[in-house]
Amino acid sequence: MSSDSTANEILELLDSLRAHATYLGELGAETIEVAQDRIEEVHVASSSVSTISGLQSYTTAPAPKPMSREHQIPTTKSTTAPLKSAPQDTLFGDLAPREPSLQQSTETLEDVWRDIGECTRCGLCEGRTQVVNTHGNSKARLMFVGEAPGADEDAQGKPFVGRAGQLLTKIIEAIGLKREDVLIGNVNRCRPPGNRQPTLEEAAICRPFLFREIAAVKPEVIVVLGNTALRNLLETREGITRVRGKFQDFRGIKVMPTFHPAYLLRDPSKKRETWEDLKKVRDYLDSLPRKDPTA
Ligand code: URA
Repeated sequence: MSSDSTANEILELLDSLRAHATYLGELGAETIEVAQDRIEEVHVASSSVSTISGLQSYTTAPAPKPMSREHQIPTTKSTTAPLKSAPQDTLFGDLAPREPSLQQSTETLEDVWRDIGECTRCGLCEGRTQVVNTHGNSKARLMFVGEAPGADEDAQGKPFVGRAGQLLTKIIEAIGLKREDVLIGNVNRCRPPGNRQPTLEEAAICRPFLFREIAAVKPEVIVVLGNTALRNLLETREGITRVRGKFQDFRGIKVMPTFHPAYLLRDPSKKRETWEDLKKVRDYLDSLPRKDPTA
């Protein structure tokens, strides 16, 4: 191979690497770790690649805005159960921070909440009244995940207690369950100013705690409500309208995407589709052997 064509190949490789890093950066990733042996196959020496204990670490572009000192993520990990690496079999499985796999987790919800504490890991802490943690049954077979607290949730310290929450309660009851039977949480735990959508960075900072709660409870089905929950739980950029009603997978747990109840309040004609989605959830749960309630 001529040195020109080798140089071209390397340039193309670097271009696609840069495009991929930009894409991951937009999703909130700060580093990509690549196994050393994969890099050696390519024999690329680049000053932008640094080695950290056998792993190559690339900084994704664009670089995230520096957080003010008080919002920096503490370097200490959980004070409770040790975090073990998630399986490295997905594109995002390689990205820090790591959460325990579902089977590995020995944490309780309280362990996770203790770790969250009076969180100041992102700027949302400045406008909130209180942290709104996941709420409900720690042995739930079914979990609902929304976006972030609104004004009512911020005031009461519980997710989904406002108008959208009242509609969610009706949805839960429509499939023969009570609110106390299920677990309800959000991607972000602090109310964004003016109820705006959390940014990719804010979601990426908060989401690992949701994953740890899921690993602690191991529900049999998770219903993701709307786009923010869908895109943060599943590795997708698809919109809710396209994927709703079709079971997806989150680390071995069935995930049903459906419309957010706040959207149903704005467009009640979409309640019919939500009902179809929830019937699938009910039928799937009914088809499974019952979890031992004492386990
Ligand atoms: N909307 C959400 O996404 N979560 C809540 O807790 C309330 C409204």
